[in-house]
Amino acid sequence: MGRDPQYDILFEPVQIGPVTAPNRFYQVPHCNGMGYRDPSGMVELRRIKAEGGWGVVCTEQAEIHHTSEITPFIEIRLWDDRDLPPLVAMCEAVHAEGALAGIELAYNGMNGPNFLTREIPMGPSHLPIVTFTNDPVQARAMDKEDIGNLRRWHRNAALRAKRAGFDIVYVYAAHGFGAPQHFLSRRYNSRTDEYGGSLENRARLLRELIEDTGDAVGDGCAVAVRISMDEMLGEAGLHREEVEDVIALMAELPDLWDLTLSGWDNDSRTSRFAGEGAQQPFVTNVKSITSKPVVGVGRFTSPDAMAAMVRKGVLDLIGAARPSIADPFLPRKIDEGRTDEIRECIGCNICITGDMTMSPIRCTQNPTMGEEWRRGWHPERIPRKGSDSRVLVIGAGPAGLEAARALGRRGYAVTLAEAGQEPGGRVTRESRLPGLAAWARVRDYRLQQLNDLPNVEVFYDSALAADQVLEFGFEHVAVATGARWRRDGIARFHQAAIPIEDGPAVLTPDDLMDGARPTGPVVVFDDDHYYMGSVLAELLADSGCSVSLVTPAAEAANWTRNTLEQAAIQTCLLERGVRIVPHRAVGRILSGGVETACVYTGRADELACSAVVLVTARRPDEALYLDLKSRRGDWPAAGIKGVTAIGDAFAPGLIAAAVYAGHRYARELDTEILLDEPPFRREIAQMLTE
Ligand code: ADP
Ligand code: SF4
Repeated sequence: MGRDPQYDILFEPVQIGPVTAPNRFYQVPHCNGMGYRDPSGMVELRRIKAEGGWGVVCTEQAEIHHTSEITPFIEIRLWDDRDLPPLVAMCEAVHAEGALAGIELAYNGMNGPNFLTREIPMGPSHLPIVTFTNDPVQARAMDKEDIGNLRRWHRNAALRAKRAGFDIVYVYAAHGFGAPQHFLSRRYNSRTDEYGGSLENRARLLRELIEDTGDAVGDGCAVAVRISMDEMLGEAGLHREEVEDVIALMAELPDLWDLTLSGWDNDSRTSRFAGEGAQQPFVTNVKSITSKPVVGVGRFTSPDAMAAMVRKGVLDLIGAARPSIADPFLPRKIDEGRTDEIRECIGCNICITGDMTMSPIRCTQNPTMGEEWRRGWHPERIPRKGSDSRVLVIGAGPAGLEAARALGRRGYAVTLAEAGQEPGGRVTRESRLPGLAAWARVRDYRLQQLNDLPNVEVFYDSALAADQVLEFGFEHVAVATGARWRRDGIARFHQAAIPIEDGPAVLTPDDLMDGARPTGPVVVFDDDHYYMGSVLAELLADSGCSVSLVTPAAEAANWTRNTLEQAAIQTCLLERGVRIVPHRAVGRILSGGVETACVYTGRADELACSAVVLVTARRPDEALYLDLKSRRGDWPAAGIKGVTAIGDAFAPGLIAAAVYAGHRYARELDTEILLDEPPFRREIAQMLTE
């Protein structure tokens, strides 16, 4: 089936200064947690995006000089020529697929602590640096000589980028990460010279960097500016009208405007807090200010929404980071009339946790993300089966669905047995909670794929026991039976069950997902620290309960700092009247409420409530797996060669981990597994010999 003509508009070439993008699909710069440490991984990730049809493929931010580095985060570097080989390789790989390569030159200034180089960070004013971790480092105000140096460093980096083969070279003034944005900002820029005061003055550095870059490389490369349209701080921060004025001052100077919001958390909102195309109100005027092409993002996964953006004259190029991570082949699928096969981003930001934890990117929807080079996993291709074995997958949650899908794609005869009446496991259950509806896409993509696989049979209402499994006699059995939340308080804070007196109802997240709705005051004890406690607090507050969220951490949903959601979550809870009780743990459940104790002093207090929700650890549903293992002696007679627990049944974890486990099981079936060596390639820093 060919392309739907209504999407032809997305496949028109776009002139960007001296270069031409082959279509409107633009992978904007995004981090991947690999950068300079895992260069081949980074290169292959970008190449696959180009293979998947993205007309422009950009790097993550590239540190241009050793006086501005963002240790501990791992991006790419362009400090000198020795940093070039991976970038040359990336450009060659992207070009070989017919796409343009872009690089985001970054001078982070007061956004980088310089822990590696011990250089003093520089910014417009003497101010503490702005990082996620309140590092005790202060930036010094740049003088004219410093500004001259920065301009030369940026120019040198642009020349290097051109030599590497890049087609688009960025000046980065977005996300609160780039020095030109700090200069634009009234909050950070208190200068009294020609770089401070009026908007023209505050924009001077940005203008100079655009001009310098154009002079240096503009004969062959396009110059792009990435700018944040709004810092979402009202009048206190940069806001849309002001940024539109900045753009108007230099509307025709760059070859492309790349529009974002600031900070990064506002730009990369999760689906819990923003829908597809949410940035439209901020970018909608820009095309009336400049004749240059405009790219913007909005977690676009729908080709209709993308085409509408172009038709309405809002954007010329459809920017995407997360949609290109969840489905590197999204453009190709639209082009080939396979839009129903798009693996839609669910907006969970697990991809961002790779960068935030300095580990290679991973994605809930796309288990091959970050594994392209080191394991040789391609998002669309998978080796044919290694035998004619038949496989039984038990449990149709994310792990079981992905295992069945990938095994089916390999050509195995697969039977997927699900105890319940519907597929999706925890994903289906959790997607009914406030803000998590998009998570059902994890299920829906896989169901759609299974529909097209005649060699995969799915049975519902089929709760299997070991006897049945042994009777069936499949050669391989994957047990993906999931996990249940604990009811005894055990997690991080308590490793032994907490005392529970008769009194308030003691509920788990499973109970609430099964429909239990307490009334009266409720305590949610969150010793999980990811999303679940906060989502349930929101659910209960919306159902009329007065809710206290007790957490041993300093804030609600502490780990969601890594998904960039923490501030939005805390705000959402406070706005609903949820009382957040930090630094305390529920130690016992009493007849009229709970006893909580300060995690520092141990001082205890009582908190009255009629129900307690324990968001603590989960217990694998491993009875079937253990039963089958204990009957290993019966396997040969039954024809069983292997029984493997995957996903939450093996160890409860992220949905991303369950999908990955299902995928890995399918990839590794009938291959030799070497347990004594890492199951992937890795690159090791070379020691200098001189
Ligand atoms: P995961 O995240 O590892 O995929 P889930 O908890 O989401 O785990 O899904 C597990 C699925 O397994 C659920 O849909 C559950 O109904 C199903 N299940 C559990 N035990 C059995 C069983 N004995 N036979 C068949 N299906 C089962
Ligand atoms: Fe989208 Fe989540 Fe994948 Fe990121 S990890 S690309 S947000 S599905």
